[in-house]
Amino acid sequence: MTTATSSIEAPEQKVGRLNAELRGKSAQEIISAAVREFGRKITYVSSFGAESAAMLGLIAEVDPGMPIVFIDTGHLFPETLAYRDRLVDLLKLENVHSQQPDPAALAARDPDVFLWSSDPDACCALRKVEPLAVALTGYDAWITGRKRYQSVTRSSLPLFEADGAHVKVNPLASWGMADVVAYLDTHDLPRHPLVAKGYPSIGCIPCTSPVKPGEDARAGRWRGRGKTECGIHTQTLNAGQDI
Ligand code: SF4
Repeated sequence: MTTATSSIEAPEQKVGRLNAELRGKSAQEIISAAVREFGRKITYVSSFGAESAAMLGLIAEVDPGMPIVFIDTGHLFPETLAYRDRLVDLLKLENVHSQQPDPAALAARDPDVFLWSSDPDACCALRKVEPLAVALTGYDAWITGRKRYQSVTRSSLPLFEADGAHVKVNPLASWGMADVVAYLDTHDLPRHPLVAKGYPSIGCIPCTSPVKPGEDARAGRWRGRGKTECGIHTQTLNAGQDI
């Protein structure tokens, strides 16, 4: 139950309460509860990638005015940008904000636009983690589309988790690929055009490759680099902080 006292709960307490209250509930119920809990202080951070249309459809059902953040790294596939525009239009999403990296930081730290090759962790910090920290300013919570099935690093993902001053909400944690496909089919939502070309997980152009049958869905991300996450889910995000 949301009470006046919940506003003074520490994020860890809030997470414990919400995980207990929402265990076994549907994605729609979890999103609705998160909106009741955080009001306009929650945003969905979307890549508009291979599985994003499911969460975007759910948000359009529950609250089409929810703020949605899209991190435009400058290295995205043109298909992703076109897919974003198509879904925004189709689902009548009212509040999508594209956040770019800081131009001065790009000029200083990636003048040759080759950082993705020489130091991909630094590139992700510059083009993803830091812009997201800026975009989350003023929010108490953010929704992610992560799912336990996607990789071993996500296999124990909770519904709610503390992330520094923020709460992260994972309404689709228990969903599998079959659930995503069923939702997209039921609601007649378009797939990202690169899925049919062998990309079950889609990030930046230099760091995304097709996946072979039987491989982990994220095997094509940073292939051969020993890197599995960009950092937005493995670092605490606080605007203004050096990350
Ligand atoms: S995914 Fe690759 S290109 Fe994109 S920000 Fe990270 S290192 Fe840079």
